[in-house]
Amino acid sequence: MPIVAMVLVVMLLGVLLWLLNRNEVEESRLSLIKDILWVEQNIHFHLTTGEEKLGQLATEMSRAELPSETFEVQARAMIANSAEFDRVLLRDAEGGQAAAIPPADGEPISQAAREAFILAKSIGRAAWSAPFVMAGRGQVFEVHVPLFRHQSFVGMLVGVVSVDSLLTHHVPWWVAERYKIEIIDGNGTTLGAKTLVELAEPGPSHQVRLEPPGQGLALVATVYTGETNLARNLLAAAIFGLALLSLSSLWLVRRHVHRRLAAELALRNEHAFRKAMEDSLTVGMRARDLSGRITYVNRAFCRMVGWSEDELVGQSPPMPYWSPDALEATMEMHDRVMAGDAPAQGFEIQFRRFCGEKFWALIYEAPLIDAHGRHSGWMASVLDITERKLAEEMARQQQEKLQRTGRLITMGEMASTLAHELNQPLSAIASYNAGCLNRLGAAGFDPEELRPALTKLGVQAQRAGQIIRRVHDFVRKSEPQLEPCPLNKVIEDTVGFIEFDAQRRGVTLQVKLAAGDIQVSADRILLEQVVLNLARNGLEAMGHTPSRQRKLSITVSAAEGQAIVAVADHGQGVAPEIAENLFQAFFTTKDEGMGMGLNICRSIVEYHQGRLWFEPNTGGGAVFRFSLPMRAT
Ligand code: ADP
Repeated sequence: MPIVAMVLVVMLLGVLLWLLNRNEVEESRLSLIKDILWVEQNIHFHLTTGEEKLGQLATEMSRAELPSETFEVQARAMIANSAEFDRVLLRDAEGGQAAAIPPADGEPISQAAREAFILAKSIGRAAWSAPFVMAGRGQVFEVHVPLFRHQSFVGMLVGVVSVDSLLTHHVPWWVAERYKIEIIDGNGTTLGAKTLVELAEPGPSHQVRLEPPGQGLALVATVYTGETNLARNLLAAAIFGLALLSLSSLWLVRRHVHRRLAAELALRNEHAFRKAMEDSLTVGMRARDLSGRITYVNRAFCRMVGWSEDELVGQSPPMPYWSPDALEATMEMHDRVMAGDAPAQGFEIQFRRFCGEKFWALIYEAPLIDAHGRHSGWMASVLDITERKLAEEMARQQQEKLQRTGRLITMGEMASTLAHELNQPLSAIASYNAGCLNRLGAAGFDPEELRPALTKLGVQAQRAGQIIRRVHDFVRKSEPQLEPCPLNKVIEDTVGFIEFDAQRRGVTLQVKLAAGDIQVSADRILLEQVVLNLARNGLEAMGHTPSRQRKLSITVSAAEGQAIVAVADHGQGVAPEIAENLFQAFFTTKDEGMGMGLNICRSIVEYHQGRLWFEPNTGGGAVFRFSLPMRAT
């Protein structure tokens, strides 16, 4: 709109200036015509008056006694009183000069004058000549009035009009100031001119016929175009310049406004985007100034604590959501944060909700920097970790429970293992004992013969004692005790436990230990328990395997800092439909199974930062493997 208005104003100004100019041109043309007509009238009046006066003199002379005296007197008076003629001549009937006022030498009559002479004589009235050059007077023209006495032509009265003096006397100064006035002949040649000004450039001109003398003479006025035009042009230029300036500044303002609007829009979009982002956050955000006063809270924080934004913003410590039981500790933490000493990894603190419920928050503090780069406060992101903490606690309790249950179950299993295990050394002890007794009763008894039998009996008794101690240790220990264990040795010892069972089931045991000494951090009893469980599962899986293929191999290896124990059997393998449930508690496919073995094994292995998994064995059956991180030696 402003630009359209401005353009209209400029256009209207242009039209106005053009109209003014046209008016002025028209006016000056009119006044030019008026003025030139006035000048023409003036000259006409004087020339006709002069002609009339000559006519009267001619009449008087025709009647006078002494015509030449009358001429002298009258002509002198005419020259002296009026400025019509520069000179008055009396010519005789042949055209020769008879008298001249003011006196002058008789000059030969010019061609133009002669023609006028002849014309006047023939028509018997005054006649005007064409212009011609007269010595000492420049361009002149003459009026010839015939003299008659008693009806016969006796001479001619001639009035000489100099073009220059005509212009000098009959063009007033005020005309000469505005125009250049010229008298031109029929060919357009200038005969005389009058002006008071220098014409820089000729303006419009107007021409009127000069009658008398006729003969193609004309009066030309040319307008002088001077300073007035310059001032007007300057004014117009100034107006247009100013208009252009206004237009360009308007354009600049418009551009500025456009940019500003674009920036505002971008800012609004940015603000809306940030607001949406803030509102969608589940993390609470809270900003405090350097004095600890709350300056900002987001929706998630309000939801978390239960107070509204209006209630929280502006609050100073102690905050309403601080737990009343831990006010001092909270205040201490607050002071640490204000001093810029907040833990970089965040800190946990207990807050309370509006309803009084307590909750755990994990808080990360970061300095708040304003637009000038000044530190203006602290921004905190607040996470409600109550559920996580509860879940962690529950998991811990569950783990503990599981371990207890596991230990009880294992104890039962151990008891049956022990029964088998102890059976073997005890029957060995019993048979060595019977042998010794037989020897004692025999004739020629040598006490030395008893030594090897008694030594073997002692070894068997020691082994039985070890088995019992293990069970005792396991039951007594409440917490797993991690200690350096040589893995090869642990496997070897465990194999000792199942040897008897394997023999009973007709299974060949194949043990491949690792080449070097592999040390792991483990609770030895639990580790043995894992191997024992996996081996027993393998043995049980081969119930229907043809006896030639009943082979259980236990392999120890090491790779990339991990020790790996593999227990491979040639049993029925793990069907895909049960593969997912294998490690769940109480999942079993056996009639007398508990379904806890693999579950406990996985818990134990994971407790030792290891992994337990299984794969099908090449040539049928399954391989159960577990890894344990190796100790740096
Ligand atoms: P349980 O032996 O008391 O059944 P486990 O947790 O030790 O409990 O084993 C769960 C189930 O996993 C077993 O019932 C069996 O179906 C399957 N399973 C375990 N080891 C093997 C194996 N070596 N080969 C095939 N299936 C196995």
